[in-house]
Amino acid sequence: MRKSCPRCSNPVQLAALGAVAAEDGPLKVSVTGMPAAKCAKGHASPFDNEFMVWLIHALKDHAGTLAAAEEKGLVFKKYVCACGGELAGKPERRQAFPLELAPEGAPAFKGEIDAPLYKCGGCGKEMLRSRRSVQGHVAQAIASLNDAAGFPHSA
Ligand SMILES: [Zn+2]
Ligand SMILES: [Zn+2]
Repeated sequence: MRKSCPRCSNPVQLAALGAVAAEDGPLKVSVTGMPAAKCAKGHASPFDNEFMVWLIHALKDHAGTLAAAEEKGLVFKKYVCACGGELAGKPERRQAFPLELAPEGAPAFKGEIDAPLYKCGGCGKEMLRSRRSVQGHVAQAIASLNDAAGFPHSA
């Protein structure tokens, strides 16, 4: 846990933030109750130096568990379902995938990744285009989430 505010050096206390959301490309990320170090002046910063990196890994891992097609082709990308069918070119709908986030040293909080699902032309199942198509946007979405939470850039 951080001891002092990176902006004004006043002592900080652990606090839970309200709903914060950010997006990058097709990916939306939102969190509720995210822990933060807050000083008496109301400056917020990550409660721990490793926290934002931890959050990126936790969300990438979560995206890795979702149903997804396999990306094929070097120039013209194809997204192929396990049944051998190809996904539709346009997304069918968006879906939110909630998860419980439990960082070490702070209370657990709720997160959600929201991504477009594509329908397989073969079996009709809906899935992500590829895991990489979501995971590749997580770090930038968290950089925006950092700003949306009012956290400083280097803390
Ligand atoms: Zn401060
Ligand atoms: Zn299929």
